[in-house]
Amino acid sequence: MRPYILAETNWKHIKDASFDVAVLPWGACEAHNNHMPYGTDILESEFISAEAARLAWERETKVIVLPPIPFGVNTGQFDVKLDINMNPSTQLMVLRDVVEVLDRQGIHKLIILNSHGGNDFKTMIRELGLKFPKMFLTTCNWFQSIDQKQYFENKDDHAGEMETSLLLYLRPDLVLPLSEAGDGASKKFKFQAIREGWAWAERKWMQVTKDTGVGDPRQATKEKGERYFKAVTEKVATFFEEVARTKATDYYE
Ligand SMILES: [Zn+2]
Repeated sequence: MRPYILAETNWKHIKDASFDVAVLPWGACEAHNNHMPYGTDILESEFISAEAARLAWERETKVIVLPPIPFGVNTGQFDVKLDINMNPSTQLMVLRDVVEVLDRQGIHKLIILNSHGGNDFKTMIRELGLKFPKMFLTTCNWFQSIDQKQYFENKDDHAGEMETSLLLYLRPDLVLPLSEAGDGASKKFKFQAIREGWAWAERKWMQVTKDTGVGDPRQATKEKGERYFKAVTEKVATFFEEVARTKATDYYE
């Protein structure tokens, strides 16, 4: 039993325990090229939260990891079989209910550990921050925490070299042989403004990719996944520790 994983711990431990920060892993249930599981984002959010929390816990950080939310925003993947979309407005309600419990019980810091590019909690945090002024609400994308170029040959947007390497390290039993994987070739928007990143529109996924992947997974290895996982979890753990230890009156310098 890991005392920092809520789903594994028990009332005997929890009733007298106190926590400075809660972590909410948030994934998505969606196709990941031919070779990886639909739960890839959920698994990543679980493994990364758990390992980062373990590191932080060993350094005396009182952190508790909540069970992951398995459904993400998949509006652009509406036609991909069994991609389960949870609309942003539903996510706001789910998040509000979780925040309400934490606020009532005096755990006034929440870190959302996001695993899915279609999820965006920023506007929700603004809105909930007004309703729950004692709460410090923050979201982080672990996949942006480290420059992936130092670890991987090919850029990964979805189910590419980075995610495949991670899963080869974390759950190799769930990854088909790479000979089964599509090449993850994808189309880009024609619009200059969107390519430059200052304009945005949702991609209709199946017009962009043939195999649901965006990014070539074929040079993925377990070793790359292990190196990257260790670097990411160390960085995420540091964030958990900093948030836990910093007083609400002392967030700025
Ligand atoms: Zn993914």
